[in-house]
Amino acid sequence: MTECEAKRNIVSLLPAELEAELSALGEPKFRAAQIFRWLARGVRDFGEMRNLPKPLREKLTGSFSLYEPKVLSRQESAIDGTIKYLWELADGNAVETVVMSYRHGNTVCVSSQVGCRQGCAFCASTIGGLVRNLEPGEILDEVLFSQLDSGKPISNIVLMGIGEPLDNFDNVMRFLRLVNHPDGMNIGMRHISLSTCGLIERFPELAEQDLQLTLSVSLHAPDDETRSKIMPANRGRGVDALIEACRDYYKRTGRRISFEYAMIDGVNDSPEQARMLAAHAHAVSAHVNLIPLNHVEERPFRPSAPEHMREFIRILEQQGVNVTVRRRLGSDVDASCGQLRRRIQAKGGMGL
Ligand code: SAH
Repeated sequence: MTECEAKRNIVSLLPAELEAELSALGEPKFRAAQIFRWLARGVRDFGEMRNLPKPLREKLTGSFSLYEPKVLSRQESAIDGTIKYLWELADGNAVETVVMSYRHGNTVCVSSQVGCRQGCAFCASTIGGLVRNLEPGEILDEVLFSQLDSGKPISNIVLMGIGEPLDNFDNVMRFLRLVNHPDGMNIGMRHISLSTCGLIERFPELAEQDLQLTLSVSLHAPDDETRSKIMPANRGRGVDALIEACRDYYKRTGRRISFEYAMIDGVNDSPEQARMLAAHAHAVSAHVNLIPLNHVEERPFRPSAPEHMREFIRILEQQGVNVTVRRRLGSDVDASCGQLRRRIQAKGGMGL
């Protein structure tokens, strides 16, 4: 075991837990608030925490791990200013984070796992499978260091990078509480979206957390035949069970769900599928977010033709569905899930 695996990452601890850890070390509780503030400012060296006595800094160094993610690559879109980061983690793995600028503020798209085991047929993140879960502090650092490096204050977070957030449930929940903490980045839950391929067995637990976040469900096909083909997570669960789980979630939380739908040429873009999608959206009062598929080199799928997309949207609107088409940002910087990490892997750049 390496040193950093043996010790707990201090960035993953909430202030109350930090207090308990400090008590155990025989230290006064107020030190916890001091440490949390240093961490929230991006200080990743105990030696720089100047208001802590030297013996405490040494004790902390012996008890916890602390690491600053390194920028392996930073690409800035010449078209829209989107910045894509590839961060190197303490163990040499790498994850992607994207900073997007909108009129209403800056949104960061974070990864929740190194790789992914869900196997969606159109997605680049899952090609090498799952390597490991990200720790809460590692996800927090994606947000914090993207903000510090880019100089763009982050107001919104989407958990739509590499990985399946509900497959790393506890760490993602802890990350949400960390990033939401008033003494930390203090980002409101209403400014956070969590995207899932539909691990419905986790929905009741998520509803119980009573968070005001937005749940996005990657639907991508309204019928079992198509959905099971492109999304293995559908197998053994099924679209009907997914819609039922969404209804239940909406009933319990009062939070409207949004359906993500990547338009794939000849796969999920027929008029009949538009009508089925409309019925599902009505059943759960969902908002539909259409995304033109981003072509991934290793994948056979292509984005739908513009005329098919127009017809699809026309049908949804005619059925009274609340639909938006997501603007594609960062198309010149590999800003689609997993593409940058994949490209560097393919070059043998990360030893993965
Ligand atoms: N695992 C989560 C979040 C990660 S991906 C999920 O499945 O929702 C974020 C979104 O991007 C998902 O809706 C995912 O299906 C979509 N996506 C993945 N690859 C894509 C591609 N090549 N083009 C368009 N959208 C894609």
